[in-house]
Amino acid sequence: MTAVRLDHLGKVFDDGTVAVDDLSLEVADGELMVLLGPSGCGKSTVLRLVAGLETPTTGHVRFGDRIVDALHTRDRNVAMVFQHYALYPHLTVAQNIGFPLRSAPGVAELVASAAARLGLSDVLDRRPAQLSGGERQLVAMARALVRQPRVFLLDEPLAHLDAGLRAELRGEVAATARRVGVTTLYVTHDQVEALAVADRVAVLRDGVLQQVGTPGEVYDDPATVFVAAFLGAPRANLFEGAIYPVDGRVAVDLGSQVLMLSAGDARTAALLRHERVTVGLRPDALRATAPAPADGASLRGRVRHVENHGFEGIVHLDAGGLPTPPAHTMIETADPAHLAGLLADPPEPEPRRGVIGRLLP
Ligand code: ATP
Repeated sequence: MTAVRLDHLGKVFDDGTVAVDDLSLEVADGELMVLLGPSGCGKSTVLRLVAGLETPTTGHVRFGDRIVDALHTRDRNVAMVFQHYALYPHLTVAQNIGFPLRSAPGVAELVASAAARLGLSDVLDRRPAQLSGGERQLVAMARALVRQPRVFLLDEPLAHLDAGLRAELRGEVAATARRVGVTTLYVTHDQVEALAVADRVAVLRDGVLQQVGTPGEVYDDPATVFVAAFLGAPRANLFEGAIYPVDGRVAVDLGSQVLMLSAGDARTAALLRHERVTVGLRPDALRATAPAPADGASLRGRVRHVENHGFEGIVHLDAGGLPTPPAHTMIETADPAHLAGLLADPPEPEPRRGVIGRLLP
């Protein structure tokens, strides 16, 4: 097994496009690292650099302590799975999985074991046309893993599948990579998928690394406003405001209203070093309440509409001309009776109140 280290890696294409900019990242032995970011942020280019399909403009790729920049792809012992798997239509599942091994000794056992790991033992005699899209993707993974690669690279492996199947298979994919214990880089633009499968997530924007951390760290303690906004659905509400102390508390003046925060925790208190901050309020950190709570930070607004998602509801709130977009905020309540109350009580002047989520300097 092999740790993968990217040292100040950069890639500028011939037309001047900077796809990867001074990226340093360490993926531990056997770790599943997700590269997450919007389309065009450089995720696939990073994978291609690790695979040896592109040459770095600056920096190095290391496997363990060894710089592999000069190694051809076939000598790196990496396995790649793309969004569009290319299975041989005329070969059976078993033959497809065993293809990279050609006639090496023990092929049948290796194929059987890779197939078993991915739940494909019952379809080994079928051809690709007789499989579902999800099964075909699992065959592509089994074929990639059968050679026991040092590094496993997955580029949007589930992107072409429908939402239900994607949710089902992502657990399978992550569990397989962990069982095999292979160092894995997994590219996706889907933040839910990233949080679901990753040991750690590396968030990229315009080729620049924004943050690396466990799913909990990047979600709960985002390093930048971009990370705060990119992770979470519905997305966090972001407002800008001036910050100052009041009676042992921290006030954030949003223009049309002032949020009062307890200065109890060190991070909130540290915000006082700044004059202006971006306040990030996650919908799930907010509860619609009436009357307003006696203490705790609150945001006043008028209920505009409520989306009922069955197991939860999203309350869209007009928070009275807050200075930055979005013009409305979203407040989630998990309490159906409360939701019903809001629906029965259409927008009217009485203020609703919510509790603040996170603060970002
Ligand atoms: P997506 O999620 O859409 O696949 P990505 O995050 O994987 O995007 P990359 O495919 O790595 O992004 O592309 C990063 C940037 O580099 C983009 O601006 C892309 O247009 C550009 N790019 C990629 N390949 C080349 C190339 N061969 N020549 C020039 N520019 C390229």
